[in-house]
Amino acid sequence: MKSAIAVEKGAERYADGDLHPFDQKNEMFKRPLWDPMMLDLGKKFYFDRISPRNTPGYTLYDQALVNAAWRLEDDCAQGVRGGKMGMYAWDWAGKFSYPRVRKGLKVKVGDPNLMSRNIKKAATFFGASLVGICRVDRRWLYSPLYLITREGGKVVENDLPETLKYAIVIAIEMDYEGIGTAPAHPASAATGLGYSRMAFTAGLLAQYIRGLGYQAIPCGNDTACSIPLAIDAGLGELGRNGLLITPEFGPRVRLAKIFTDLPLTPDSPIAFGVWEFCQICGKCAEKCPSQSIMRGGPTSETHNISNRENVRAWHINAETCLAFWVANGTDCATCIRVCPFNKPWGAHHEFIRWVISTQPRFNRFLLWVDSALGYGKKKAPQRFWGGSSLTPPDILEE
Ligand code: SF4
Ligand code: SF4
Repeated sequence: MKSAIAVEKGAERYADGDLHPFDQKNEMFKRPLWDPMMLDLGKKFYFDRISPRNTPGYTLYDQALVNAAWRLEDDCAQGVRGGKMGMYAWDWAGKFSYPRVRKGLKVKVGDPNLMSRNIKKAATFFGASLVGICRVDRRWLYSPLYLITREGGKVVENDLPETLKYAIVIAIEMDYEGIGTAPAHPASAATGLGYSRMAFTAGLLAQYIRGLGYQAIPCGNDTACSIPLAIDAGLGELGRNGLLITPEFGPRVRLAKIFTDLPLTPDSPIAFGVWEFCQICGKCAEKCPSQSIMRGGPTSETHNISNRENVRAWHINAETCLAFWVANGTDCATCIRVCPFNKPWGAHHEFIRWVISTQPRFNRFLLWVDSALGYGKKKAPQRFWGGSSLTPPDILEE
């Protein structure tokens, strides 16, 4: 049953005036490095040590899980700091070590459709849950970039080559049970694992494309805004919670992209009733612990410099959102957990998605059913760990 239809406009459908590249230093995770208003919060966010608590979801088991889940992103990619290293290196790392292949070979692309199918197969083989392709709209690039370095924040020009005309956007599904505990640590672990899998999948796919003789630049959150690229690539729509909502997993995905000059066929952007459903829903706004999500209709009004100008949507107040993360001692994801589009796979959920996309007059009833059945309620972190047998650990101080 097909719930999504192809539409003409990608992320441009939300434009309410001229769109310009976003200055990355205004992005929420970068402002604590330079914005006097955010310095104190940033110090706490980036440097405070968080003691484990004897509260389910906040124990040392939970903290260790988060820490392990982030390992690949933190040590071998660093997309949240600016990328360009490890799995997100911009150039060919090493050589064909196995099997050993002569240098300088290049496949001839006769049919971009076939090439696109080939790339999508490789992407899912490496771990992508969803893959879409778009032409690169350079208005979605960060410009200038703002990198987090050992010496502090650094403004640099975005030197993504114009010859890389295509973006392959991959979505990585996050663990349903983990996100179900949001805003406790297992949800952060699901997020961290999403980031590590982004780096793993995007890095390997880029290396595959290089092996075919073409340029490929893999990126996590760095270099360009992922959500508009994902919308352009037909992966989903923008939700009230400021996130990409996909037909398959709702907002329970993380996004990465690979820029390339490999000739490909772009996918069509899609719509499947998210815009209309968000108008009558508002669960994310109601349940957000910091009230950072707008109620009412979409608007071009922004909260602060972390919002993009000239976009008609529901802007998130990232300042109050980050303040909650600091108070919570980890991140959050409540706006992912409660969203009615966040469902595990199931034929009945497929059917509901089809109704939402084709029969919007049932939206209020479906929203009522969603709440009545208890979807979106916080799950006990003990359940994530497989029962209540895990008691808070005795911690031995070294
Ligand atoms: S992450 Fe949490 S605090 Fe931030 S907007 Fe979503 S629900 Fe609100
Ligand atoms: S919770 Fe409701 S309003 Fe918020 S993004 Fe999901 S569908 Fe839209």
